[in-house]
Amino acid sequence: MINHNLYIEQIDTYIDPYKPVKNAIITHSHFDHAKPGHENVLATKETIEIMKIRYGKNCAKNFQALRYNDELIINNIGIKLIPAGHILGSSQVLISNKKNRILITGDFKTTNDKSCICFEESKCDLLITEATFGLPIFKHPNPIKEIKKLTNEIERKENRTFLVGAYSLGKSQRLLSLLREVGYDETVYIHGALKNICDFYVKSGIFLGNYDHVKNKNEKDLINKIIIAPPSSIRGNWANRFINKKICLASGWMTIKQRIKQSNIEIPLVISDHSDWYELTNNILNSQAKNVWVTHGREDALTYWCKENSIGSKPLRLVNREEGN
Ligand SMILES: [Zn+2]
Ligand SMILES: [Zn+2]
Repeated sequence: MINHNLYIEQIDTYIDPYKPVKNAIITHSHFDHAKPGHENVLATKETIEIMKIRYGKNCAKNFQALRYNDELIINNIGIKLIPAGHILGSSQVLISNKKNRILITGDFKTTNDKSCICFEESKCDLLITEATFGLPIFKHPNPIKEIKKLTNEIERKENRTFLVGAYSLGKSQRLLSLLREVGYDETVYIHGALKNICDFYVKSGIFLGNYDHVKNKNEKDLINKIIIAPPSSIRGNWANRFINKKICLASGWMTIKQRIKQSNIEIPLVISDHSDWYELTNNILNSQAKNVWVTHGREDALTYWCKENSIGSKPLRLVNREEGN
């Protein structure tokens, strides 16, 4: 029903294709999954809106929004989008006919996240899963505990300016949401690249509290405050003006000491929007899939684990997928 490029011939449709195609189902709006230039795009309403914010209103010829768990049937094939818990609008894709159920996870995490709808588990025959953190060394800690590392530092009032690196779509909004969850109620300052996405999250009903464009603020007034910016900006010229900076980075990779040292991170926050090893393997078991294909990430360890557990498995090594965080 589906080939190794995630192409479904019977409905002439690709999932997250990296080149423009006639029919595409898009799991979520990160750059490595959502590309501009397709003729027809099927996705959740939120994914479509974010694609339009990032690429412009005409980034595809036609858009069709499908609600979570509604079924669309084309040529006897059922298509469902199921919450993936990764970022706002993210979905897994369930493709089924009378004989077979195939679930493509896209990027996913199963932990609680108030900035998007939580992951939903499904049973299937073939599970096509990501494996960004597909090694047993990856066990993501509780994000509430992690965010408190930052708020505790701020409470010490040591006159530092806290520059927090986070991807502009998904991670930044999750950080805002987590800060509010632990009771931090000061205005958070943001890099311009985050503005439209944050506004869209708020419009979609996600609570982010007060935030403001950092350019509206004098450096002296930013002392003991939080500024969220894309990881590339916190080390570039853009960051030069801030006084007595303390550099923080939110990423699942912050468990790796070498990466913390390499990028001179003073406050590493292990906050990931991908599943860790235990979420990946539990999801495989819970899906009861007899076969597993691994799209991207640490394929070898996960396919080996499948074999040990008598589950058929295959690495797909899809190209053009980013490392993720
Ligand atoms: Zn993603
Ligand atoms: Zn990805």
